[in-house]
Amino acid sequence: MPDTALITGASSGIGAEFARYHASKGGDVVLTARSEARLKALAAELEAAHGIKAHVFATDLGTGEGVYALVDEITQAGIQIDILINNAGIAPAPNEERFATAVANQMLRLENNVAATTPLNVITDMSDEDWDYMLKVHLYGTFYGSRAAARHMTPQRSGSIINISSVLGLRPTAMAPHYSTAKAAIIALTKSQSQELAPLGVRVNAVCPGYIDTPLLAPMNDLMKVAIVSQIGVGRLGTDDEIAEMVSFIASPKASYCTGEVFSVTGGYSG
Ligand code: NAP
Repeated sequence: MPDTALITGASSGIGAEFARYHASKGGDVVLTARSEARLKALAAELEAAHGIKAHVFATDLGTGEGVYALVDEITQAGIQIDILINNAGIAPAPNEERFATAVANQMLRLENNVAATTPLNVITDMSDEDWDYMLKVHLYGTFYGSRAAARHMTPQRSGSIINISSVLGLRPTAMAPHYSTAKAAIIALTKSQSQELAPLGVRVNAVCPGYIDTPLLAPMNDLMKVAIVSQIGVGRLGTDDEIAEMVSFIASPKASYCTGEVFSVTGGYSG
């Protein structure tokens, strides 16, 4: 019987695309995010198109134990989770003024005049609330999901947990210290948990997308996108199906020797 996948952040972008991909292969899905309406619409689409079962559990990962409580609810409903994709995420709101300052600073650097650059004040201006919320959604969300999945998968002696990190977890940016920190910590959590669970048949891996054309990037203006694309080897943003392909491979038995690994999908991003 095909595996059942629990996907956080399934109402949009990469999570929704992976759900489509998994359902097209005949796998059942458990869809979670905050927007119940969008999850229900996707569930109806997948059930009609592929004849699979799509469960919907709406929850906010930024508060409480989110997925941890959810996994209890799901397993009590008699659903076995074979694959967990810890994918839900948010991006810091782009700051046009700060971006313009960073561009001006870069010009000064090219003129060998670093002393004249203007402070960006990213950390100094960050509120406790912004820092906490970013870590809660990404890092705590992944922790709660992984803890619950481990408890559920270990007795099965099988399972695959895939944590969606980011290229910024590998190469942090000054513009988003909270996002970069959360994504880097997810990589450490992935490696640590994989060591504990590998002997028990549960694989844990991370995927680091580069810049992918999903609603997450929508708040960026055109100039910001051009600046990003100029640093991408293939000369374009990635697509959600290019990430879903990688996640599907890692989730499948074809990746049976992959655990504790970090898979980058960046189109040759060099930023
Ligand atoms: P997206 O289209 O904006 O999707 C984000 C998903 O996360 C949505 O389903 C959203 O649903 C859910 N979500 C956000 N906050 C949540 C919360 N508090 N509780 C529960 N669910 C929440 O973005 P995406 O690009 O597919 O991002 C997916 C993952 O890839 C994220 O972890 C992101 O950091 C990572 N990533 C993306 C890029 C990129 O360039 N797009 C690059 C590197 C890494 P609701 O709004 O309905 O809750």
